[in-house]
Amino acid sequence: MAELKNETKIDPREVLEGIGEWVTIERPSHDAKAVNVVVDKVEGQFRDLGLKLERIPGRDGFGDILECKTPWGEGKGILVLAHLDTVHPIGMIEKDLKIRQEGDSVFGPGIYDMKAGGYIAYYALRHLIRQGKKTKLPVTFLFIPEEEVGSPTSRSRIEAAARGHKYCLVMEPGRDGDKVVTSRKGVGRFVMTVKGRASHAGVRHEDGRSAILEMAKQILRIEGRTDYNRGITVNVGLINGGTGVNVISAECTAEIDLRVPDQKIAEEMTHWFLNLEPIGPDVEVRIEGGMNRPPYQKDTGIAQLFDKAQAIYREIGKDLKDVPLTGGGSDGNFTAALGIPTLDGLGADGKGAHAAYEQIYYSSLLPRTYLCTRLLETLD
Ligand SMILES: [Zn+2]
Repeated sequence: MAELKNETKIDPREVLEGIGEWVTIERPSHDAKAVNVVVDKVEGQFRDLGLKLERIPGRDGFGDILECKTPWGEGKGILVLAHLDTVHPIGMIEKDLKIRQEGDSVFGPGIYDMKAGGYIAYYALRHLIRQGKKTKLPVTFLFIPEEEVGSPTSRSRIEAAARGHKYCLVMEPGRDGDKVVTSRKGVGRFVMTVKGRASHAGVRHEDGRSAILEMAKQILRIEGRTDYNRGITVNVGLINGGTGVNVISAECTAEIDLRVPDQKIAEEMTHWFLNLEPIGPDVEVRIEGGMNRPPYQKDTGIAQLFDKAQAIYREIGKDLKDVPLTGGGSDGNFTAALGIPTLDGLGADGKGAHAAYEQIYYSSLLPRTYLCTRLLETLD
């Protein structure tokens, strides 16, 4: 702890410098090596704070999961979730997302989603420790290497951790001023495969059964299920099919993204997808998939946790709000669906997640760090 300054105030400049160190390391989800470089960095910092560490080796081409626990506290505590991967390919830092400050905006790849949030949580605990304080509850930080692709290798670990904790704080980006997240839509993923019959497009057109034509009809039907009034959106985001322009296509696949507001609609839509039948003659349709992230709904426990956060924000004369139901999923969906009071969107405010203008607002660092620090300090 030698390098810690003997400073008792949250210093937003110092927070920004720390965020900058994390942002400098580019780490797309699918690059395990790159992600593990930032995991090394974070591991070292938590080790210096005296936390108990466990590093779970990555699998399926993803980086390692890092768990850091306070050595104090017994029983169920606070789980803090942050992901260390980003969607940006290596090299963005030299192009559109050069690390720079312009007025209140600070740019960098993954700075908003969600290097800033992860660092704020680290800083918050460090801030308590350097004041000689402790949290009332034990705290576990879980750093996720592949949230941006749906947390396929970390989900079971997140859920196991959540079951052993009383609260979950998710450091995903803050929203639209002084707002946090208390509900998220559920996310479903489906893959449709159509098998038709190949044939020469000129000589034997009538013998062919076009998989692409069938898929086109299916897409119109599937996209037709978007219903903004009910909060359902469906998107066919990827399509692949055919072998040549003069060949009636024998196969076509499409990948579909589904967002739903609650569990009932999740079940309704999953059932609908899994029972889709062919529209045209002599073709086969296969559909696989299901809900990837369950809906995260604001229940009583979440409302009470949000009330506590609001009270903390009032200590610095600010008013905390929660955003209306958002379509973006996070690891908070997993913990909230298990009934663990979950507060999400606790990271820095900014805009441009996943975009080439991704940025945080410097002015949000102090209130957000204060909020996180006091949540860790006071939750009991
Ligand atoms: Zn994120």
